[in-house]
Amino acid sequence: FNNVSAPIRQLHRIYDDMNDAMIYAEGYFDILEADSEIEPNGHHAPSTTNGTFELRNVDFSYPNSVKTLQGIDMRIESGKTTALVGLSGAGKSTIINLLCKFYLPQGGEILLDGINLNDYDNGALREKIGLVLQRNHIFKGSIEDNIRYGKIEASFEEVQEAARKAYLHEQIMELKEGYAHDATLLSGGQQQRIAIARLFLKNPPIIFLDEPTASLDAIATEQIKNSLDAIQKNRTVVIISHSLSQILDADYIYVLKKGEVVESGTHDSLMDVKGTYREIFDASARSLNLEKLVQSYKDEK
Ligand code: ADP
Ligand code: MG
Repeated sequence: FNNVSAPIRQLHRIYDDMNDAMIYAEGYFDILEADSEIEPNGHHAPSTTNGTFELRNVDFSYPNSVKTLQGIDMRIESGKTTALVGLSGAGKSTIINLLCKFYLPQGGEILLDGINLNDYDNGALREKIGLVLQRNHIFKGSIEDNIRYGKIEASFEEVQEAARKAYLHEQIMELKEGYAHDATLLSGGQQQRIAIARLFLKNPPIIFLDEPTASLDAIATEQIKNSLDAIQKNRTVVIISHSLSQILDADYIYVLKKGEVVESGTHDSLMDVKGTYREIFDASARSLNLEKLVQSYKDEK
């Protein structure tokens, strides 16, 4: 990679033995610095994956912490979108941490395509995974280099193609410097679309989205949703979101409460249960209507 610019080379020097997925996950830096590789690092490194995860009676606590997850049974189907719903602190992001093998469960097991995650080569596993978080790692440097971070060897044409798919290209063209513009100066929504453009470049069979639109306004959320809709097709997707429309679109939903799965099913079946899911859904719908009410009041003035 002689032809890539300084920031990328620098990042690669610093995080030489780490995987893209982990670098995207800014929040994980603490762990990584403490322990840059999780043991056991197995030998299983298949070239393709079906993308079916199974969690069997999984228990987990963070180091020096109380129990975070307890007796989790979950099936994440290949090619489908699975949503995790629950109040803040319920353990949703922790499940994604475990699926990425950033941590190991203390009890039970997690299988991908029927094989324990412990047996996977960590790098090979994370190569199959793309992550978009609430905030993603945008480094000081051009938009082009920031997008290329999804696939270091990508050509400029490929970078542009990814930006188009993420609905970012036209906005880049409006900038005086175009793809040379400093990515850290972009808006939150545009930075999220850089993360999505990286996903299109990386083209992973498994995608984890952890509140990808949580920090955005309604218009940016809608744009991000359009970009994500395109990439979700025919991949294994796990999504955590406060956006009702993203949850409604999921094929299957798990509801977490204090580290346990309390309900699971489709949106319709969970609404019939009249339990935790319905409570959360009705509360978000109310706050949405409230927002609309406030907006229409403002519009009238
Ligand atoms: P959610 O994503 O549903 O909001 P999390 O999975 O982030 O919930 O957190 C579940 C619980 O684990 C919370 O009580 C949280 O404070 C705790 N927790 C999350 N990350 C860490 C960490 N790195 N170390 C210790 N405790 C953590
Ligand atoms: Mg979370």
